[in-house]
Amino acid sequence: MNPFRLTLLLVFLFSISNLTGQALADELVVYSARNEHLIKPLFDAYTHETGIKITYITDKEGPLLQRLKSEGRNTRADLLITVDAGNLWHAANEGVLQKIESPQLAANIPANLRDPDNRWFGLSLRARTLVYSTERVKPEQLSSYAALGEPKWRGRLLLRTSKKVYNQSLVAMLIAEYGEAQTEQIITTWVDNLAAPPFASDTKLMQAILAGQGDVGIVNTYYFGRLLKENPDLKLALYWPNQDSTGVHVNISGAGVTKYAKNPRGAVKFLEWLSSEKAQNLFADANMEYPVNPGVEAHAYVKSWGSFKASEMNLARAGELQSDAIKLMDRAGYR
Ligand code: FE
Repeated sequence: MNPFRLTLLLVFLFSISNLTGQALADELVVYSARNEHLIKPLFDAYTHETGIKITYITDKEGPLLQRLKSEGRNTRADLLITVDAGNLWHAANEGVLQKIESPQLAANIPANLRDPDNRWFGLSLRARTLVYSTERVKPEQLSSYAALGEPKWRGRLLLRTSKKVYNQSLVAMLIAEYGEAQTEQIITTWVDNLAAPPFASDTKLMQAILAGQGDVGIVNTYYFGRLLKENPDLKLALYWPNQDSTGVHVNISGAGVTKYAKNPRGAVKFLEWLSSEKAQNLFADANMEYPVNPGVEAHAYVKSWGSFKASEMNLARAGELQSDAIKLMDRAGYR
């Protein structure tokens, strides 16, 4: 081949590789178990700022995980967004997420709210805390998760179903803190105190307290926030347990870069942007959650529920101990 034709060929090959690189850099594909109305404004803001297009599908975490597994290397997904460290841990454990190195994510997100192996990262924080009837309970009567098993709460406690990952993570974290034997003791006394069979949702649980079916329960903060927004005179209040011990159980919504991402660098950049000061309020406020970035303040509405000491245990424990938690709840008769 003469030198001129070789140069032409090289220029041609270079521009092709550049073109495909360009196409990938300008596009991201997200699989999200978070509802569209919570993530779409973020995607739009990112596209507006960078010109990078984001396509997405939303579904429940089970089908999304199944889809990622069956698509394997053919997946178009660059990122998986879902709620609860138990789900993120499970996705990582199933091998659909990849390890990424990012000093920015390490700086923006506290270590306990991300995978020690860097496969998933918390982007917003919710507390799973106590809620009580302001008509029938005084906050001084409350103290810890374990104390909900005291005899004074007999026939007064309400819980959501143990099938929900939120409760599986809560009990996993109790096991990490107190060990299996003591946790089983706690859960058994909870079951003894139940005023009604476990509820399908945190909202139904709170409505049951309002209806007088029980006096105290355990819920995620944003569900309380939603109900309070509908009714500012809500006869319910949040209580922060374990303040002189392990702290309130917190959990996250978060994301990880998929194992077979076509645009892993773009995915990391987007994660870094989501964890940054300018995006954290967009992400957290949409669902009345707390930013994970310690440099960012929660929305005034969320802050008005009071400040609390949060558990600092790494949320990977919620995944590692999830199956132990499920078995323990079953043994304790928590349905
Ligand atoms: Fe939820």
